[in-house]
Amino acid sequence: MEKKNIDWANLGFGYHITDKRYVSNYKNGAWDEGTLTEDPTIQLNECAGILQYCQEIFEGLKAYTTEDGRVVTFRPDLNAERMIDSAKRLEMPAFPKERFLDAIDKVVTANAAWVPPYGSGATLYIRPYMFASSPVIGVKPAEEYQFRAFVTPVGPYFKGGAKPLTLCVSDFDRAAPHGTGHIKAGLNYAMSLHACVTAHANGFDENLYLDPATRTYVEETGGANFLFVDKDGKIIIPKSDSILPSITRRSLVVVAKDMLGMEVEERPVKLEELKDFAECGLCGTAAVISPVGKVVDHGRDICFASGMDEMGPVIQKLYDTLTGIQMGRIEGPEGWVRTIL
Ligand SMILES: *Cc1c(COP(=O)(O)O)cnc(C)c1O
Repeated sequence: MEKKNIDWANLGFGYHITDKRYVSNYKNGAWDEGTLTEDPTIQLNECAGILQYCQEIFEGLKAYTTEDGRVVTFRPDLNAERMIDSAKRLEMPAFPKERFLDAIDKVVTANAAWVPPYGSGATLYIRPYMFASSPVIGVKPAEEYQFRAFVTPVGPYFKGGAKPLTLCVSDFDRAAPHGTGHIKAGLNYAMSLHACVTAHANGFDENLYLDPATRTYVEETGGANFLFVDKDGKIIIPKSDSILPSITRRSLVVVAKDMLGMEVEERPVKLEELKDFAECGLCGTAAVISPVGKVVDHGRDICFASGMDEMGPVIQKLYDTLTGIQMGRIEGPEGWVRTIL
């Protein structure tokens, strides 16, 4: 199969239209069999539930070309399960796990020419999502839904090395206690946009959100979970019911404990403790781990020992191990890599 003629190494993180996408519709209480289509557009009733009351959930994962030339996805079963959890919270029908895995296999296979080659640093980003498609005007769940999955090639996240980020402690909140912070829903992002634009306008890369109830504990950023390393080399993971359970972060915990023999502690983490940590990273599918050099809390700089020039050694080791597993260079735990082609 011939690859598309693309300058893979210089792709950004953006939407590129690819050949096929997967679509399945839910009607009269059941999902149809699903199909691949070339049409990237969606025609909706003006009163569709997604347009009126934002009933939408999504996932994000990647396909990689391994060193030995296979095309694989990384733990897609966890994306399937998380999407089912998200669906339940928004009163949407679950898209069954086996159907989800099959949809991902099909959409990646249909767009095989778009999977970046091994060594290019680029990957194929996969976006599964589901939304309310039938009309709703009185506030209630819709009756009909559409599940879709498209793919888009994305470039290497760290072009020319990973520059540590500067975060600001946000005055806005991301997720209320007992709210929707733990599910992957577009609504959590819509309300974060103003905070995000404000942070960028003030020269910061990202927001650090605190727990809204006490504003003393660290939650996460707009789209990535925290991982800290203390001065003894122990991994510290913030714990809260309103943090989105990142698959990257959960995988890094297993890598640290079971493969690298490190100590890991998951517990509530106070903003006040950050000054004592050696390293800080942001975990998510897009970057795996982005190093954080500094957090600014209303004019007060909280600097990590790893500094503003490069990734700290522990985060580098975690990054190398997890990306090694994804690219087939390192044997990971059983079942983490799903071979599609
Ligand atoms: C998707 C997401 C993450 C990262 O999760 P991964 O499964 O690692 O990609 C972290 N925080 C939020 C709010 C997210 O939506």
